[in-house]
Amino acid sequence: MKKCLICGKGELIEVEDIISEIEGHFFIEKGKRCSSCGEEFISERTSQNTIEIARRLGLWGEPLKLHRKLSRSARGTVLRIPTDIEENLHLKGDEQVLISKIGKNKLLVEIKE
Ligand SMILES: [Zn+2]
Repeated sequence: MKKCLICGKGELIEVEDIISEIEGHFFIEKGKRCSSCGEEFISERTSQNTIEIARRLGLWGEPLKLHRKLSRSARGTVLRIPTDIEENLHLKGDEQVLISKIGKNKLLVEIKE
């Protein structure tokens, strides 16, 4: 059994009921869930499948929006950019970004040209 990357205590258990929300629609995905902190891990392939289904249903328009949890690393809070958005914006991973706080619960990430 693999240990959880987030809390380091729990074990990752295979589950089939991870819920992702895309534009108000809920998708059930397979993945792993930590027995201690409850963090959910979905494989990149599963995420891509969900995005593909959402596309076929016509849900995946602009703006691209996918709900993901933030993670903690030793250096702070980490937000992983979903591959789809990465490709859409042609991100190479070494861009400079500006992060602005908008209101109480929004962050705007701008990529500097
Ligand atoms: Zn955990």
